[in-house]
Amino acid sequence: MSSNRNRRFFLKSMAAAGLVAGAGSANANRDVPLHPSDLGLTGKGYINPRKVLLYECTRREIRERLAAGKLKAALVPTGSTEQHNEHLAMIMDSAGALVTCQQAALQIYPKAIVTTPVSIGISPHWMNRRGTLSLKKETFVNVVFDICESLKGHGINTILIVNGHGGNVKPLNEEIGNFRDKLGINIDNCSYWDSIDKELGNKLMETKRWPDHASEFETSIALAAFPERVRYRGIDPNYWDHADYDGRNGAAWDKKTFGESKVASAEKGEQIITHASTWLAQKLLGMIG
Ligand SMILES: [Zn+2]
Repeated sequence: MSSNRNRRFFLKSMAAAGLVAGAGSANANRDVPLHPSDLGLTGKGYINPRKVLLYECTRREIRERLAAGKLKAALVPTGSTEQHNEHLAMIMDSAGALVTCQQAALQIYPKAIVTTPVSIGISPHWMNRRGTLSLKKETFVNVVFDICESLKGHGINTILIVNGHGGNVKPLNEEIGNFRDKLGINIDNCSYWDSIDKELGNKLMETKRWPDHASEFETSIALAAFPERVRYRGIDPNYWDHADYDGRNGAAWDKKTFGESKVASAEKGEQIITHASTWLAQKLLGMIG
């Protein structure tokens, strides 16, 4: 998305989904008229981005889509509520998974619905920074399983769990076979950054690192999709020199990666989100068959 028109559309789409500041305000909707080709869709017209979010739908809307055989699959975003250095909101991982799932579901509308994100993950390694919330592995896995079981109960038998937090990767990989055995449905898991191969990552990321934690990669996604969650103003440039934490990836590491976050940009974030969501849509279409 390099043209101004596409960039305006992207931001408007995010605003309509309630993912950027100003959503719902008069200013949020004064931009250029939408065109179906902006969505990469042919003949489908405009789709309100909220229509692919299960928790924004009424029960009638879900019931009718299921009864018509239009709704075939679900995306389950998983993330965290954890410290993301001094400048980025703690919801980053959950919001990153959500926005890529939402954009993927829009691409294949009305085949897929996005569930309420699992917004607290496994983050014991960040508990020495204030604010982080962490679930035990079994709690997290049980919550994800129960969501999938609920979906199966409604007749949705194709599910892709889309993760946005590093600490959740191993437990999900370990448990997905059990989920499959217990539920007997078509279910898989991935992280949205699995879509980015070495060539693309090296091209996009000046730091050559992805996924990262609150550095260039994640900050770029946030600047593209929810810039109000990036707040550099007022940060003490010497904070890390007297920070009261140590342990894994201590204050010196935080200081270094904070510096690297400064090369983030909304344009890079748009490319990451576009690429990841297209990859997720294709993956899910392959599962639906
Ligand atoms: Zn993160």
